[in-house]
Amino acid sequence: MLIIDCPYCGKRDEAEFHYGGEAHIVRPENPSELSDEAWAEYLFMRSNTKGRFLERWVHSEGCRRWFNMARNTANNEVEAVYLMGETPPKEVSK
Ligand SMILES: [Zn+2]
Repeated sequence: MLIIDCPYCGKRDEAEFHYGGEAHIVRPENPSELSDEAWAEYLFMRSNTKGRFLERWVHSEGCRRWFNMARNTANNEVEAVYLMGETPPKEVSK
C-alpha cells in the first residue's frame, strides 16, 4: 500500500488517488500540421521506465486537484511530490 503526500491535503492512502499517466507530456502547438505518425507518437507513446518516473496523480477522493509525483517504479517508493507546472526535483542519490 502506498501513502501519498498530497501537496494540498497531506498524507493519504493510495485508494483516494487516481493515476494520470506520465507527467510533462506537452501537447503539440499545431496538431493539424503533424503527420499521423507524429500525432500517434504524442497520443500513445510513453516511456516505460524502470526506476525514477515522473507521473501525474489526482486526489480524486479528496481535494480533486492534480499534482506530479516522482516515483521509483522498481520499488514503488515515492521520491517527491510537486505541483503542476513546477520543475521536477533533482534526483536524490542514495
Ligand atoms: Zn488533496
